[in-house]
Amino acid sequence: MARAPAPRKEMLATVTEHSKPTKMAIAARSDNGAPVLISVVAPCYNESETVDLFVDAIEKIVADADFETEIVFVDDGSRDDTRARLSRLAESRDNIRVIALSRNFGKEAALTAGVDHARGDAVIVMDVDLQDPPELILDFVRKWRDGFDIVYAAREDRQSDTAAKRATASWFYRLFNKISAIKIPENAGDYRLMDRRVVEHIKALPERTRFMKGLFAWVGFQSIGVPYVRPLRAAGETKFNFWKLWNFAIDGFTSFSTAPLRVWTYFGALVAAMSILYAMVIILQTLIFGIDVPGYASLLVFILFFGSIQMISVGILGEYIARLFAEVKQRPIYIVDDIVDGPKTH
Ligand code: UDP
Ligand code: MG
Repeated sequence: MARAPAPRKEMLATVTEHSKPTKMAIAARSDNGAPVLISVVAPCYNESETVDLFVDAIEKIVADADFETEIVFVDDGSRDDTRARLSRLAESRDNIRVIALSRNFGKEAALTAGVDHARGDAVIVMDVDLQDPPELILDFVRKWRDGFDIVYAAREDRQSDTAAKRATASWFYRLFNKISAIKIPENAGDYRLMDRRVVEHIKALPERTRFMKGLFAWVGFQSIGVPYVRPLRAAGETKFNFWKLWNFAIDGFTSFSTAPLRVWTYFGALVAAMSILYAMVIILQTLIFGIDVPGYASLLVFILFFGSIQMISVGILGEYIARLFAEVKQRPIYIVDDIVDGPKTH
């Protein structure tokens, strides 16, 4: 049976959301005075097939808008002709810039680079494959003018994802929100608008492990979701396989929770208490029934069990230590190879 389309209501479910902004919309966001500039930041990795579609779609949406738009593309070390195509676009328009990174640094680093180079009064981050529908930009700006600092796109369903991806994503969000003090809405991706002051706070975060969804939530401010149905990729293919997503999830957990480290203290205490009880049972048995030889199987099971538990806990320590190592080295998050600007700015 076909499902009736859900009404386009505003989503107001998570901790940082408010139905109404508590402060007045600031003057810079209204229509009087100079037009506001909205930056659209889009990271691209091997997106040769989608970049032109993306620019067409954005231009169509903002054609009659009462704000100005700049598009900041980040070429994340593409191996196809994405960079050449982006440069051509930038050279033919005065509102497109390309930040070309020196190699592939990953989507989170590319997003960071884009946000760092955006000049708008508000910054929208979105994927270039049109899975983030450009029409929402107008809704985002409207809500931002109402006074919200963050307006994010809230997926109403994830039919465009495979069943396995939906299930693992749902487990991830549930576990994340249980063990982290910072909650991230389960239906939100990266697609969002952020006010300039939010952007400045995000830019000031020095960490190297950039789990952007977490960082966007961490800075706080008033946010609201705009519901949408996530379409399929316009062209090309996904850059995220299971292994990449798995490591991304570990980045998320380790960046926002110490629970995986601390759980071993309590687990150890529980096992110690059980061991004492078991030791007493064995002592009593030996005193009453004499020395008993069997026990080889149970002994082996215990050794294997506790050996593996110890290795897992050392492995989890390793996950944190590896990230500490990356942080203390203080390497930059990305390296810019070249910036291609529109004709006006030359
Ligand atoms: N992306 C990137 N660097 C990477 C991988 C992806 O900049 O190393 C970009 C990609 O070009 C796209 C966005 O991140 O604009 C989302 O990627 P994708 O559509 O493959 O992810 P999915 O939607 O399948 O989760
Ligand atoms: Mg995509």
